[in-house]
Amino acid sequence: MSFVRSARAFFGSLPKNLSKKVLKPDMRVNSVADIDVKYLKRKGMTHIFFDMDNTITSFHGAKVPQSISKRLKELCRMFKVYIMSNSDSEHVKAFIKRNPAYLLNYMEMGGRKKPAVSTFEYVLKKSGALAKNCVMVGDRYFTDIAGAKKSGFGLVIKTMPLLQETEPLILKAVRGLERGYVRLRRIR
Ligand SMILES: [Mg+2]
Repeated sequence: MSFVRSARAFFGSLPKNLSKKVLKPDMRVNSVADIDVKYLKRKGMTHIFFDMDNTITSFHGAKVPQSISKRLKELCRMFKVYIMSNSDSEHVKAFIKRNPAYLLNYMEMGGRKKPAVSTFEYVLKKSGALAKNCVMVGDRYFTDIAGAKKSGFGLVIKTMPLLQETEPLILKAVRGLERGYVRLRRIR
């Protein structure tokens, strides 16, 4: 893994028109286990879109760790919950099938990727939800947070990477650059 490769991957992942407002999540939590179900209900949220890798599973993982399992089940019972992942669709579908207890729905993105606003508009239309009633939960600033903020989601929650040690080196490097960028812009 070269620095040039990771820098290229990083800059390639930069969404257009980055501003502090777009990169700043509405809420930060350590993990999904810290999401307050009652708070989301009080705020009128109806739908939750979860990133998958390192938000609810390890990188390309097959199961949900026990540390977040109980809360994820609770959220699935209380809200309409979708997985919105840039990963290979077959991998995501297989994960959902293997874990029926979570009532997770697969969100097909029509070949689109996060953080494009068109992707978020597409999934909103498919789910029939209003952006203001939707929560996005993810671990990455430039994909999950920026995309959902630009698309007017009602609540955008940033988690810490769930099991960062499972990520390939290239992604660790990109994440490091991302973190540096966020610090540089003093996004807190
Ligand atoms: Mg992720």
